[in-house]
Amino acid sequence: MRFTRLRLNGFKSFVDPTDLVIAEGLTGVVGPNGCGKSNLLEALRWVMGENRPTAMRGGGMEDVIFAGAATRPARNFAEVSLLIDNSERLAPAEFNDSDILEVVRRITRDAGSAYKLGGKEVRARDVQMLFADASTGAHSPALVRQGQISELINAKPRNRRRVLEEAAGISGLYQRRHEAELR
Ligand code: ATP
Ligand code: MG
Repeated sequence: MRFTRLRLNGFKSFVDPTDLVIAEGLTGVVGPNGCGKSNLLEALRWVMGENRPTAMRGGGMEDVIFAGAATRPARNFAEVSLLIDNSERLAPAEFNDSDILEVVRRITRDAGSAYKLGGKEVRARDVQMLFADASTGAHSPALVRQGQISELINAKPRNRRRVLEEAAGISGLYQRRHEAELR
């Protein structure tokens, strides 16, 4: 699953619409402290269904919305869109009619999050499962937060196993089993 574009609008410090092309190969993001490098990774995690405010360095989910600055008022919504190369047709059947799959998440103050996959409204779970089955997603070990390496070194074996399971691509199966057991 290759990401080709990340678009942000009103997400954290990215108040103006920002369109980032993710070229093939290695991409580096450089800039001074506080310019928004970590916010970009958080946008990626968020559009893939991250729902823990702490993972977004916030107190509540609405904290991802641009909160205002000395010269700019706060915004009422935040939107992130992720474009995925689907030329190998790996997406679930109902979304598999195009070379490009777009995932959109939008949060509006007091109205929560809404998701779209290939232009169709879907649940958070649909987006989360899409990425879980592709061994990527909000909790993927491919996304390494600042300070996470030392956390991993100090982690309990059970937590470290979870990272290996994610890498092996079986976490989607675990989630389905867990949901089946709850029914
Ligand atoms: P470092 O090099 O220190 O790791 P960084 O480039 O990773 O910095 P980020 O942590 O991504 O920087 O960006 C932090 C900036 O984003 C801060 O200036 C903070 O005020 C701003 N920011 C975070 N959330 C919001 C928000 N909801 N609204 C407006 N600005 C925000
Ligand atoms: Mg940072």
